[in-house]
Amino acid sequence: MAITLPDDPAREALLAGQPVLWLNPRLQPQGIEDPALPVRPDQVAVAEANWQRLAPLLQALFPDLAATSGRIRSDLVALEPPLRRAIGQDGPEFGQIFVKADNALPVAGSIKARGGVYEVFMHAEALARRNGIATDDIMALASDEARTLFSGHTIAVGSTGNLGLSVGIAARALGFKAAVHMSSDAKEWKVQRLTRLGVEVVKHQADYTTAVEEARREAEADPTIYFVDDERSQMLFFGYSAAAQELAAQLSEAGVTVDADHPLFVYLPCGIGGAPGGVAYGLKAIFGDAAHCFFVEPVQSPCAMVQMMSGRDDLVSVYDVGLTNRTEADGMAVARMSDFVGEVMRPMLSGIFTVDDDALFRWLWHAHDAQGIRLEPSAAAGFGGPDFILKSEAGSDYLRLNGIESRLGQGTHVIWATGGAFVPEEQFQDFLQRGKALATGG
Ligand SMILES: *Cc1c(COP(=O)(O)O)cnc(C)c1O
Repeated sequence: MAITLPDDPAREALLAGQPVLWLNPRLQPQGIEDPALPVRPDQVAVAEANWQRLAPLLQALFPDLAATSGRIRSDLVALEPPLRRAIGQDGPEFGQIFVKADNALPVAGSIKARGGVYEVFMHAEALARRNGIATDDIMALASDEARTLFSGHTIAVGSTGNLGLSVGIAARALGFKAAVHMSSDAKEWKVQRLTRLGVEVVKHQADYTTAVEEARREAEADPTIYFVDDERSQMLFFGYSAAAQELAAQLSEAGVTVDADHPLFVYLPCGIGGAPGGVAYGLKAIFGDAAHCFFVEPVQSPCAMVQMMSGRDDLVSVYDVGLTNRTEADGMAVARMSDFVGEVMRPMLSGIFTVDDDALFRWLWHAHDAQGIRLEPSAAAGFGGPDFILKSEAGSDYLRLNGIESRLGQGTHVIWATGGAFVPEEQFQDFLQRGKALATGG
């Protein structure tokens, strides 16, 4: 279906596949309190408590969580002057800039560890209870009895790669069978890694939306298959949302104030919307209007921008407006966003910007060259945020509308780096070479 987007200052550039910042006209003060929303802020605290409860079990199953007592955490890393200079964000008007280093997140090597692991473990607990296994002691989920039960069940998911890794790793750690339906964008090394873990990988010659549909259909026909539904899952969403509390504690530890006079800008790479949506929701629950959350998408896969700009309730895809969904940023190669996330973000997302693939590779190289940060292309997208806020017309409009033009020097930018730790060395060297050639001309 071809659709026409309404008049909007960002529409022309969006349709031309050019980088642009779109401002959300439906952003409301305290939008998270909108009673029409299908979720409530107190669900974030429930997720945080669940993570806490799961920690001893996670610690026992994943040796790399020993240092954090079973919590899946990443560092908050300040951008140092050489990197800030290299990307042209060294002026005092940029305030403080941090990277939230989910690129190095344990267990799954990407932000998906926060969603996929959470849903698999919460499902395991519910399944055990339904089958008469007492779970007052969470370690019961690692007992022989539980493993025997889980071995007769499958966890299925559709993925461009990273969610499959996260769900597959978590499912196998508990003794489940796992089936991952991969889109055509999926990188071969992700397929191989899953296969080595004993995960069944089904490769589709189609995009992500189709892979999800196939996985859902298979699961519906078989009661021993549990389907992790990236398009609709509130469990994934709230698993991600707990990251906000972690960031708040780290900002406070770093001496950063967040309030009306000290704005916090957060840039979140978006595929289907679950990960960035969950994190943004958690941040709005904590910081309210002082947190300014922006999604970022590839110029050819801006599914959230298309959806939210359209103002429609039914789903619109990037194909419907003539874009290709082609990008090297496999984590964001999604043509149609989650309608659940689109609805929840409507009153609270500040805006969305797009970036082209060349910029991703340039930032990927600079981050590694200047500060040793290891990213995959999707994870570099947030680096475009500060420039859009400080140097674009839409950015100026946003600051003026929110009365914070004079507060930038005391503001903070957080670039959410979403994946990279698991990228094989050879592939990473290719990324670096491409980025270096673009950044230095040689
Ligand atoms: C999945 C992913 C995203 C986007 O998350 P969604 O939940 O699909 O919006 C961004 N970056 C990376 C590296 C990812 O794996």
